[in-house]
Amino acid sequence: MYLYNSLTHKKEPFVPNHPELVKMYTCGPTVYHYAHIGNLRTYMMEDVLEKYLRYQGYNVRRVMNITDVGHLSSDGDTGEDKMLKGAKREHKTVMEIAQMFTDAFFEDCRKLNIKRPDVVEPATNCIGDFIHIIETLLEKGFAYRAGGNVYFDTSKLEKYYVFNDFNAEDLDVGVREGVEEDTNKRNKNDFVLWFTQSKFEDQALKWESPWGVGYPGWHIECTGISLKYLGEDMDIHCGGIDNAFPHHTNEIAQSEAYLGHKWVNFWFHVLHLNSGSGKMSKSSGEFLTLALLEEKGYDPMAYRFFCLQSHYRKNLVFSYENLDNAVLAYNKLIDKIAALNPEAEGEPDAAVLKALKARFMKGMDADLNTSLAITALYDVLKEKTDDRTKLAAIGDFDRVLSLNLLEAAAKKRAQQPEEERNPAIEALLAARAAAKKEKNFAEADRIRDELKARGIEIIDTPQGAKWKRI
Ligand code: AMP
Ligand code: ZN
Repeated sequence: MYLYNSLTHKKEPFVPNHPELVKMYTCGPTVYHYAHIGNLRTYMMEDVLEKYLRYQGYNVRRVMNITDVGHLSSDGDTGEDKMLKGAKREHKTVMEIAQMFTDAFFEDCRKLNIKRPDVVEPATNCIGDFIHIIETLLEKGFAYRAGGNVYFDTSKLEKYYVFNDFNAEDLDVGVREGVEEDTNKRNKNDFVLWFTQSKFEDQALKWESPWGVGYPGWHIECTGISLKYLGEDMDIHCGGIDNAFPHHTNEIAQSEAYLGHKWVNFWFHVLHLNSGSGKMSKSSGEFLTLALLEEKGYDPMAYRFFCLQSHYRKNLVFSYENLDNAVLAYNKLIDKIAALNPEAEGEPDAAVLKALKARFMKGMDADLNTSLAITALYDVLKEKTDDRTKLAAIGDFDRVLSLNLLEAAAKKRAQQPEEERNPAIEALLAARAAAKKEKNFAEADRIRDELKARGIEIIDTPQGAKWKRI
């Protein structure tokens, strides 16, 4: 498989560090609010990546953090803690909203067939691990204390801007307009590892530390949790593109300073879902949640299909019109699968199945091109082969796509009266009607016998011929 690596700015063949296990880490949600459908796009594409690795036979261990402390309103360590803001908004405690929005997040994931990672760890469970890493960074001279906080010293690194396809202005977090500069920082990109001082005295969760009572910075959480559960190296680290800087840049800085060697091989970034007016956010415009789409009558699977139709490294524009088109396409696809006969006898044709799988994998191997994989799905329907083989291929692809293809088709079949759901029989009935019209009764009888041999009885009614199983 070729995968784009944000670190090298190239598509590279994916080779795991340890052949027996692929180690994968995902930046999890900050549980101060519901996830919007943009966040869910990122989790869905990461889910496809994990499932495709498993499809190829890799054993995968995937870890995800839950950010329940330390993520301030600006990614550049300023502003109020997002969790505290959320708690005030909901008139609940920080721990109450953490639980409520963690549950809501996994409920959204369940509806979208996003598999739960093997390890899901809230940051507040690992405070001791963060303190240990910060102590080591201080000992090694990569961190300093100032104004009550502990900062990472970016000037100690040979290279800080690892994802260097950003322009310099976007990287200047400390001097972004409207953001007050933290005068404790020695360098503009230094970031907080541990807070004991913040402008917001009512910070809800605090812990004892060698530097006073306080709380960890957001970036140290992902370093601490991934090192705890994945060890000193990792194959793939994932997140949305907005995480590349400063969050992932800072994760790399502190992790590699702590470890003394390279940490992550592949950085997998999903581009944004944008609304017509720009990047989707929780604070401006319509707050698009999965629940809102469901209220409007959309099936979560149609949203998954919508996302899978486009490549993860392209921005995707959300509009109801675009979603409606995906709904039509998804329903049509399910209709076509429902028309295949699941009771067809015999085994799938192994050679044809292999060729169909190869087409699917060709798309997925090309930097997880899910839109090509969906084309391979349509190719299955067009293939000149039996229904058994087609259904086997569709079920196989859906181990990765997770679009409920076979289940939705089975549901549709069950809803339809039997006579409407078998195009092969329908075609024979039409041929018999045509033969009768031409007074070719021998042919009409032959068709009746052919169907009878298959266990199907024709019933002539004033509305035309119907059929039932004998
Ligand atoms: P958050 O809960 O804000 O920490 O974000 C959760 C995940 O969603 C992160 O991986 C973000 O990078 C990602 N994300 C944020 N906004 C968008 C968006 N508009 N489209 C896709 N992913 C996003
Ligand atoms: Zn992270």
